[in-house]
Amino acid sequence: MSTVHEFQLSGIAYPRDPAHMLDEICEHFVEHAEVLRNADRAVLKSSFGTASIHLQDKRLLIDLNCPSEHSLQMVRTSIAEHLFFFAGETAFDLAWSEPVSAARLPDMHEVMVTAVEDVTPHMRRVKVSCADITPFVGGDMHVRVIVPPKGRQPVWPRYRTDGRIAWPDGEDELLVRAYTIRAVDVERRELWIDFFQHPMPNVTTPGADFARNCRPGDRLALLGPGSGSLPMSSRMLLVGDESALPAIARIIAEVAPGADIEAIIEVEDSLEEQPLPTKGTLKVRWLHRRHYPPGAKDILADQAKAAIVASAHNTFVWVACEKEGARSVRSLLKSRKHDRKSMYVAWYWERDIA
Ligand SMILES: Cc1cc2nc3c(=O)[nH]c(=O)nc-3n(C[C@H](O)[C@H](O)[C@H](O)COP(=O)(O)OP(=O)(O)OC[C@H]3O[C@@H](n4cnc5c(N)ncnc54)[C@H](O)[C@@H]3O)c2cc1C
Repeated sequence: MSTVHEFQLSGIAYPRDPAHMLDEICEHFVEHAEVLRNADRAVLKSSFGTASIHLQDKRLLIDLNCPSEHSLQMVRTSIAEHLFFFAGETAFDLAWSEPVSAARLPDMHEVMVTAVEDVTPHMRRVKVSCADITPFVGGDMHVRVIVPPKGRQPVWPRYRTDGRIAWPDGEDELLVRAYTIRAVDVERRELWIDFFQHPMPNVTTPGADFARNCRPGDRLALLGPGSGSLPMSSRMLLVGDESALPAIARIIAEVAPGADIEAIIEVEDSLEEQPLPTKGTLKVRWLHRRHYPPGAKDILADQAKAAIVASAHNTFVWVACEKEGARSVRSLLKSRKHDRKSMYVAWYWERDIA
């Protein structure tokens, strides 16, 4: 029985293959929500609310039930963005019982750069001031960093009538990349984001470049927080490369006293290692890519899998890295029937994308 909240909304989607889309929804959201499924209905429950999706007469009937207007908008957007993504190139229609009420995205925060510093030779920290830091304390760690084109008045994203986000294009196109809030400085009302510097010859890296070139006073926006909360288990295995290091460092910094943590972190060399203060007990192993044999790219995933096999069954397994590595770790966990509520496995970047 789902909790009934005050803020409700319904929608109808017309996919070409509704049964397949329902399968895709369940497969995807199982990483982010509790998913209850029977033949023609899926119920997705998270702290943002409940989405019930019912397959009927070749349509998907959607009912959203959320504790606030804010979360209702966010759940609608998340469902809409995913449904259109799953529809791909095929024709797809989605209509809602109520028009989108807020033109402005409720979880978008305009922020200003206050300081930029190098944590290590390849990790650049950008501190931003934010009028309301409360949503960033505890809970979800990730944001979309939105950078307007230099020298232009920013045109921020708005809602489309189907609930998706309309991103400005042409000269107003925004740079959008996923990052982690590394730390929240409540007293100064500042958020820290650590950007790995991974420039390569002949490849543009706009996210990394932004951090290298920004200056105090520059304005940008953060969308979130969302997708991936701080795990609060008393026994954890944390694995990742530099893109995941900000999240791993934050988890380690915010665990409850006495938590037992094992971490495996891949960086270029010892200069990229960081101090990882914690109230828990931490055993950390740094892997140095510089010493890998030429062409080796599976070492982190292999080490993660060996550590999973050696770990106790109630260990919370948290892994974020390149796409292929994350996929191979996820399939090992699946084959071991690891409790889905005790794992977070995500790919944070993809090798060799243009
Ligand atoms: C939820 C989430 C949280 C994240 N948090 C952080 C964070 O806190 N700090 C952080 O630095 N990154 C983080 N990332 C990863 C970051 O979003 C990607 O690395 C992103 O691709 C960087 O954008 P870019 O514009 O610099 O490079 P892109 O334009 O996306 O890619 C350019 C080229 O760089 C390569 N590339 C991209 N990322 C990496 C990498 N990490 N190592 C080596 N090559 C790479 C690509 O294969 C491509 O060839 C996070 C990702 C997710 C999904």
